[in-house]
Amino acid sequence: MLRYNLSYWERETFFKDFDVAVIGSGIVGLAAAMRVKELDPSLNVAVLERGVLPAGASTRNAGFACFGSMTELLDDMSHRSEDQVLEVVEKRWRGLQRLRTLIGDEQMDFQMLGGYEMFTDDEEDVYRQCLERIPDFNQKIGAITGHPEVFKVVDDRLPRFGFRGVRHLILNQPEGQVHTGKMMATLLRIAERQGIKIFNGITINRLENSSQGVDLETESGWTLRVPRVLVAVNGFAKTLLPDADVTPARNQVLITKPMPGLPVEGCFHYDRGYFYFRNIDGRILLGGGRHLDNAQEQTAEFGPNELIRSALVQLLKTVICPGQPFEVDGWWTGILGLGSVKKPIVERYASNIVIAVRLNGMGVAIGTLVGQEGAEMLMNG
Ligand SMILES: Cc1cc2nc3c(=O)[nH]c(=O)nc-3n(C[C@H](O)[C@H](O)[C@H](O)COP(=O)(O)OP(=O)(O)OC[C@H]3O[C@@H](n4cnc5c(N)ncnc54)[C@H](O)[C@@H]3O)c2cc1C
Repeated sequence: MLRYNLSYWERETFFKDFDVAVIGSGIVGLAAAMRVKELDPSLNVAVLERGVLPAGASTRNAGFACFGSMTELLDDMSHRSEDQVLEVVEKRWRGLQRLRTLIGDEQMDFQMLGGYEMFTDDEEDVYRQCLERIPDFNQKIGAITGHPEVFKVVDDRLPRFGFRGVRHLILNQPEGQVHTGKMMATLLRIAERQGIKIFNGITINRLENSSQGVDLETESGWTLRVPRVLVAVNGFAKTLLPDADVTPARNQVLITKPMPGLPVEGCFHYDRGYFYFRNIDGRILLGGGRHLDNAQEQTAEFGPNELIRSALVQLLKTVICPGQPFEVDGWWTGILGLGSVKKPIVERYASNIVIAVRLNGMGVAIGTLVGQEGAEMLMNG
């Protein structure tokens, strides 16, 4: 780690008189900074990011613009009340609309190709449970989305996709997909255009709140004092916020080389969402499988997990593209922030500090809204 003190010039030119600092330049941090500027354009807002790019989940996810598949919602309802679950669905939906307004569909290749949930021969019971709830969900989630038929069974599409061992498909019609890279690049561009100053390569090691503001101690050895701070570090919260109910969860992701005539189109959830895949540029992007080695994947460090990687390749071979040749073009990992409750945390942590973390696997949809809420809480305190 590069250790240095700020020079007089750096202190007086680059790091002078910030009104608000946001830690983390993922979707939440950027959306929060933009909302602060929207509320008061005269404020001097800085975003401090440890990576060369946002280095967590926002540039490393699957780009599902999703708000809930049947098994996910039913599972959530076994832990929380139906109203609480629907409240999160509603936020995911509203967040998506905000994202689309902020960025524009064309800028992030937004396409409403639908989200499919796959049920294998062994999952007939789960499928029946979902089937029973479709009319009820269509009524309740239809009221949120305005879509006349959110969920529908589309088993007739199975031959087109060519999956093996999959007996049923339930489609969530208004779900979409985005090009994650374009989404984040556009968000960064908009933030910069609004005069927000984004600094990369700055890791904050410690926060110290006082009546004079917040001292941000950097890993490089110097400290910055800012009147108000919003922390948007999601899965990395433990270092800065040891008490927060956020656990890191690593996800393995692969991308294939382009596959001529690829029939897969849309976002797919397999094995109750433990695995997910989609088409992008004639390739398949596939991720998940964390449940196969939860202990190892409960980490905020990037890196491979061979057990999970071989399971993902096996899934491609046997279920997703059986009999079709493919080559893996590359792998990466991303870090999610999970917790005991599947709901983001937006709260005042100290008099001058608000935190907006624990996005679970929902940040594409809900991230801009969480950033907005965090910013409003910070400014209204
Ligand atoms: C593999 C994968 C697939 C996913 N797929 C989807 C999907 O299809 N759809 C969906 O809705 N969601 C998906 N998600 C979840 C979604 O990406 C996240 O919920 C969302 O990106 C979280 O955004 P964030 O801004 O809160 O966090 P992040 O994007 O993780 O941003 C946090 C930032 O804080 C920075 N940071 C951390 N600590 C410090 C520090 N001490 N000092 C300075 N900077 C710091 C990090 O470098 C990082 O850039 C996926 C996640 C992963 C990992």
